[in-house]
Amino acid sequence: MSAIAKINHDTKSITISATLNFYGSFAEPILAEKIILEINTLWNEPKAIFEVNELPYEVIFSIDYVCHSAETILEKCISNLSYAENFIRIEEKNTAERSMMGFGIGQNSGHWLITDNLGESTTAAHEFGHAIGLPHPDHLDYRNTGLPPIMAPRGTLVDAQYQWNPLAETGSYGGTMRPIWRRVRDYEIVAVLRPFDLADVSEINIGSLTNNLYDEIGRPVGIIS
Ligand SMILES: [Zn+2]
Repeated sequence: MSAIAKINHDTKSITISATLNFYGSFAEPILAEKIILEINTLWNEPKAIFEVNELPYEVIFSIDYVCHSAETILEKCISNLSYAENFIRIEEKNTAERSMMGFGIGQNSGHWLITDNLGESTTAAHEFGHAIGLPHPDHLDYRNTGLPPIMAPRGTLVDAQYQWNPLAETGSYGGTMRPIWRRVRDYEIVAVLRPFDLADVSEINIGSLTNNLYDEIGRPVGIIS
């Protein structure tokens, strides 16, 4: 995904904004509302602080959506020059067998699956993290550290109570992270902004504009950039 960050040096705040343009068989307002609520709730939860000129700036996430028909999404995508706009198809299945945000980090185009319980499972918030530039963490053992971070992938090791099956042996079937326990950590938000020099600017672009659309099963069509 991509996003725009507006830096207000008077109020000492950084607002990260993005619009998710949904299309596909399951792009409906009820689901879209749940997805947006999950992303905004989880990413605002840490009340992260990022230092600019050695002063603490509050980081706020403001994500919204539009649901599109096949015609309006094409029109929107083909002419897009804004990093605030993301294009996400929602279907039941795809060739990758998982929700994804393009084939790289920071892309503004994705294909998400309703079978990932979007809006109820932390998957949407995790994919949003990829979209704004975050990879999976290098180390995948979060035992004795509480809830795992939002960018932890499937298979991550966690304390027993955060496993699919708390009684399973660590790392065995059922003995890995149940995604619902992931939470955004303030260091993950700092990592999004760290590559940028915010000292003298009022706005930055995050991510990249791939402007891809996908077909029903997740094959890219209409590659524009
Ligand atoms: Zn991931």
